[in-house]
Amino acid sequence: MAKYIFVTGGVTSSLGKGIIAASLAKLLQARGLKVTIQKFDPYINIDPGTLNPYEHGECYVTDDGAETDLDLGHYERFLNIPTSQANNVTTGRIYQTVINKERAGDYLGKTVQVIPHITDEIKNRMLLLGKGGKYDIVITEIGGTVGDIESLPFVEAVRQIQWELPEEDCMVVHLTLIPYLKAAKELKTKPTQHSVRMLSQEGVHPNVIVCRTEHPLNDELKKKIALFCNVKPNAVIEAMDASTIYEVPLKMLQEGLDVIVLKKLQINGYAAPELTKWRAFLDKLKYPQSKVTIGLIGKYIELQDAYKSILESFIHAGAINECKVQIVNVHSEFITDENVQEKLKDLDGLLVAPGFGNRGVEGKIIAVKYARENKLPFFGICLGMQMAVIEFARNVLGWTDAHSTEMDKTTTHPVIDLMEEQKNIVNLGGTMRLGAYPCEIQEGSLAHKIYGTTEISERHRHRWEFNNKYIADFENAGLTPSGKNPATGLVEIVELKDHPFFIGVQYHPELKSTVENPQPIFVHFIKAAKAFGDKRDAVKNPLLQSEMI
Ligand code: GLN
Repeated sequence: MAKYIFVTGGVTSSLGKGIIAASLAKLLQARGLKVTIQKFDPYINIDPGTLNPYEHGECYVTDDGAETDLDLGHYERFLNIPTSQANNVTTGRIYQTVINKERAGDYLGKTVQVIPHITDEIKNRMLLLGKGGKYDIVITEIGGTVGDIESLPFVEAVRQIQWELPEEDCMVVHLTLIPYLKAAKELKTKPTQHSVRMLSQEGVHPNVIVCRTEHPLNDELKKKIALFCNVKPNAVIEAMDASTIYEVPLKMLQEGLDVIVLKKLQINGYAAPELTKWRAFLDKLKYPQSKVTIGLIGKYIELQDAYKSILESFIHAGAINECKVQIVNVHSEFITDENVQEKLKDLDGLLVAPGFGNRGVEGKIIAVKYARENKLPFFGICLGMQMAVIEFARNVLGWTDAHSTEMDKTTTHPVIDLMEEQKNIVNLGGTMRLGAYPCEIQEGSLAHKIYGTTEISERHRHRWEFNNKYIADFENAGLTPSGKNPATGLVEIVELKDHPFFIGVQYHPELKSTVENPQPIFVHFIKAAKAFGDKRDAVKNPLLQSEMI
């Protein structure tokens, strides 16, 4: 049987519960324990797949095809182990299960109620991953903020689990905010006191309080929080703003969060934390030797969470190259033939982002054209790859109205078309081509050089595909389909022959990049961008050029 840690949040949302949960998990893993993390979200959607990125940030997809909260991405990037459908549960999914059971007659004769039926279902799901001996510790992050009506059943389930399990098998970590009042030059503990009181009223008393703060907490303040919130002073943990999320595990180590947890859970004989790789990564991240500027062409650029995994993948790939990756967000809706040169001229590489629908696609196509013609390193992901195919069809093959049937159903050249299995789909939730599929890579291709193997598996989230009717035309004209699904022949990778680095992938490589295993396309893309930048600098500055010779 595993032990359980619940992470709740108080005062405000967006305090970074996911990062605190992932950091704690990292430390426990570094001490030799088998840990997993799950997230319980209080909204009614069955999963975030149907949510607009503006509402909820990126939708993270697991190997088994679950559309999940972006915090699962943090869990994987920190722990370097895959999550699954079981790691993300919403209120909607809980209710769906209970209602299905009711219709099946499982509760015959009974009135179905929030307590016990909904809370029992929540408890089942909370305890599920801990059964079967795979994990020593299951960390459960409860989405939302304590006091919200919608998170009440989750907190009640935690209360019951705490009551049912032996004391040493379960604990609660509460994350709060200690605001700093500039005018008074003071850190304020009252919101934390209130949020702990609120949690206590719901029957749950936290064992540890982690305090997000912009200024250090002195001993006196810690003691005050401890006294009023009824925990020991060493159970008040300072979580100062960090320059990077990857520093948080080390900050939590300094504060002794893992040791308090191990003591409370009565786990003895744990190893010293093995964080050599993590520290090496952080060193490289903090002290880069060079810099590249990458343009991220997308339509959700106002909200950085919409491209979370892509941005994190660049951090991993930059660190391993000892190179600072500066991202320039370029809104695809505002790119035109007239301004493209001005907007993209200082970039060392161009990434065209995934997306859905018509808005901004013409700008993306113009950007691809610029990258192709100017030999600027190009990386297209999902919709980005589809835009590269359309651009090539229009401007190289001369099919001027070539398009995807997602945007134009009447095009005479549907070079991107709806997948066969998608044609009869009526319900939009959870019905895309989702999760991990194998891909076979052509020997000698750029993709082969990047991955160093011909067999890979990557995760997907799309409905449209490269139309194989045109495959020979593309290949003959120089756009090579260098990766295909071995069973269906579906094109997964395209690359340009006469270009130093031009690759588009139908899948989402960003979902598998972790601190310990940076995703290879990102790593090589940064290398190519570095080479591009060096060459351009050399041309701009002949002195440098002669030095290089
Ligand atoms: N809209 C495209 C499709 O469904 C691309 C999806 C994506 O970029 N994730 O195929």
